[in-house]
Amino acid sequence: MSSRSHLLNDGTAEHYRRSVTEGVDRVADRIARTERPFTGVTPSQLGPAVHGIDLEEPLGDPAAALDELESVYLRDAVYFHHPRYLAHLNCPVVIPAVLGEAVISAVNSSMDTWDQSAGGTLIERHLIKWTAERIGLGTAADGIFTSGGTQSNLQALLLARDEACRLVEKNSPTPLRKPEILPRLRILTSECSHFSIEKAATLLGLGADAVVAVPCDEDRKMRTSALAAELERCEREDLVVMAVVATGGTTDFGSIDPLPEIADLCEQFGTWLHVDAAYGCGLLVSRRRALLEGIERADSVTVDYHKSFFQPVSSSAVLVRDQATLRHVTYHADYLNPARMAENDIPNLVDKSIQTTRRFDALKLWLTLRIMGAAGIGELFDEVVDRAADAWRMLRDDPRFEVVTRPQLSTLVFRYLPPSPAGQSLTDDVNLHARHALSASGEAVIASTVVDGRHYLKFTLLNPETSLDDIATVLDLIAEHAGRRFTERRGGLEAQLPDPEPVHPRAS
Ligand SMILES: *Cc1c(COP(=O)(O)O)cnc(C)c1O
Repeated sequence: MSSRSHLLNDGTAEHYRRSVTEGVDRVADRIARTERPFTGVTPSQLGPAVHGIDLEEPLGDPAAALDELESVYLRDAVYFHHPRYLAHLNCPVVIPAVLGEAVISAVNSSMDTWDQSAGGTLIERHLIKWTAERIGLGTAADGIFTSGGTQSNLQALLLARDEACRLVEKNSPTPLRKPEILPRLRILTSECSHFSIEKAATLLGLGADAVVAVPCDEDRKMRTSALAAELERCEREDLVVMAVVATGGTTDFGSIDPLPEIADLCEQFGTWLHVDAAYGCGLLVSRRRALLEGIERADSVTVDYHKSFFQPVSSSAVLVRDQATLRHVTYHADYLNPARMAENDIPNLVDKSIQTTRRFDALKLWLTLRIMGAAGIGELFDEVVDRAADAWRMLRDDPRFEVVTRPQLSTLVFRYLPPSPAGQSLTDDVNLHARHALSASGEAVIASTVVDGRHYLKFTLLNPETSLDDIATVLDLIAEHAGRRFTERRGGLEAQLPDPEPVHPRAS
């Protein structure tokens, strides 16, 4: 086949149809046949097969390339649709969104300008408006789709930083430059917030101690009394709190910070409130919407549709209460989006984004809403939240385990307790061992995290197909692996065991 025959155009539409259908068939077969979420393959087992492929020697033919892909990827991939995938915030995807994905890449619009997307720009704006209305941000709200929560948080904090700098400059008796202000800026966020807040602070040129971790209560929610104390301290020390970041569903515990009280404090201190609802945004369409009460008072909000809206990666957005704040990312290029276009009301979304070329991810959400509707998404999310509540009761009543908090969303953080007294490092060891053993067997994939310096196990439930029986089975497997390890290790070794993994203080 000639190289030109691989280009998608009017003359190759039939080739496109056959090629993509063949790929879809392979994936559908694979998904229909997966018995385990993972095969347990290791990098050293899979590495030679991948690195042995000579990229200078193309196969020419889609069928041959798909056969090869089967052995280097599809066979051993981690399958989030499997009911015993319980690890991270990865969701099974809804078919309307996968359909959207196929349209996105074939038409290949780029969302930076009207003249590269046309209707795509309007569809994205309509979805942003819809999301802002669900949040309750008011008529001046706006926003933009991003690649994920990390980018949404970064952009929100960039806007907050530049608003803070503008106010400091305005109120200063002597002229100030940005580099003089940056070291005084602080971001207050709970100790359980996402690590992308710290990354954002670094990227935004803030000082090393710019992110102040506010303590949480036993339910892993920000203590508002501690927040108030920090706000007062910063004021006393002539520091500028550029943003308070509240989390609407922490990554580890699914805990939702007390948004109304935090919003009150932000109002009192004149501080930008960012709500990171990357995980909890599914509540916007659920019967538990009230859990996010207070989010409507935010200056900016992060939502990850690729978590609790069952969308394929990537699909996220950052929303702002005041569309004017988006000007901090507006730059004009003569070749792309000259200022006169904005003056003539030609919508160029690049004016609101930190990306230039950008995928039309919004289309996935569009087809999802048009085919199954928001209530359908909410039902799926409510189901996993219900399941987590049932699983919590099961864990609470099971003497083999200790569970940290009662979930508001769909995560469970717990650990296996050895049948006879054991030191903390042995308990850490048997729990970490159980996680690795499970993954190596491929029978289930679970996560682990650190709570108050100790290793715990974690389930993130995002799959309505995961039954309570599945969860009970995985708990039995954990107890088996951990119990066996405990028996092997206890004979006097306990005292010599080192900490199995370095402990990181923040959630990831
Ligand atoms: C997942 C998550 C993020 C990061 O989102 P990505 O889409 O992975 O970049 C940020 N904040 C919270 C609370 C999250 O759970």
